Amino acid sequence: MAADIPTVDLGDGIRIPQLGFGVFQIPPEETEAAVAQALTVGYRHIDTAQGYRNEKQVGDAIDASGLDPDEVFVTSKLGLAHMTYDEARVAIDDTVTALRVTKPDLFLVHWPLPTVRDYTVVWRALVDARADGVLRAIGVSNFQIAHLERLRDVSDLVPVVNQIELHPYLTQEPLRAYGAEHGIVTEAWSPIAQGLVLGDPVVVGIGEEIGRSPAQVVLRWHLQRGTVVFPKSTSPARMAENLRLFDFSLDDDQMAAISALNRDQRTGGDPDTFRYTY
Ligand code: NDP
Repeated sequence: MAADIPTVDLGDGIRIPQLGFGVFQIPPEETEAAVAQALTVGYRHIDTAQGYRNEKQVGDAIDASGLDPDEVFVTSKLGLAHMTYDEARVAIDDTVTALRVTKPDLFLVHWPLPTVRDYTVVWRALVDARADGVLRAIGVSNFQIAHLERLRDVSDLVPVVNQIELHPYLTQEPLRAYGAEHGIVTEAWSPIAQGLVLGDPVVVGIGEEIGRSPAQVVLRWHLQRGTVVFPKSTSPARMAENLRLFDFSLDDDQMAAISALNRDQRTGGDPDTFRYTY
């Protein structure tokens, strides 16, 4: 089943499966079982973060799966408490230790936090860790165009991805266009808006027309726009449902109708002002 999932080129011979499995809000004690189930149904891309406190359990599940760790693409992200270059370098090593069996394939600056730190400093830590062979591909998350422009001013290395909140109520056209222009792959977090978009009459109507669930309709819309997605579910049935996306397609009218639902509605923080308080 894993072989059916297309991959997206991140450069340097690194390819990311376009569909993965997210583990935000899965408690650490439930993560190993959830990831084991996800690997069993066919996912080969796991999206975690230092802030989710479940990196070790992701590594444990990959270890116990019997799969070659190289077959599973793992993304993690820098914790929000790390403000300086040195703190970021130590934290990157912590992720490598926590994942144990597998080096992170992709490591991201989780949020820019422009009100509390200079994000170009932690970006430099990722650049240097990559040059030292500690990390493979590096990118960012929740960066706005202005943040990406500032990185361009200080660094020759372009982030390979920008992972942003993106779903039919927040279609993020300017950021997607900027990414396409600069070779930055767009990844969608909360691809089904944590369920918010699944009751939308347009989404439900298209699902009824083609005999697919609302979640499948929305996830397919993402894939056809070239976006990388990793829905979260702790239900084995919904994990499998979210993977059955490659035996149907949406036509141009259906794609346009879903894109037209945009209302610039965030479910999470605004990257310009968001800060995490410990
Ligand atoms: P999602 O949009 O993936 O939605 C998850 C929710 O939808 C869960 O409540 C889940 O419930 C439910 N669900 C999943 N599949 C279905 C389905 N087929 N039908 C009905 N309900 C369904 O939200 P997330 O916020 O988890 O985003 C996905 C991933 O994105 C995260 O796990 C994380 O990896 C990443 N992320 C990154 C952020 C960042 O700042 N970079 C921020 C937020 C997320 P159930 O488990 O019961 O199935």
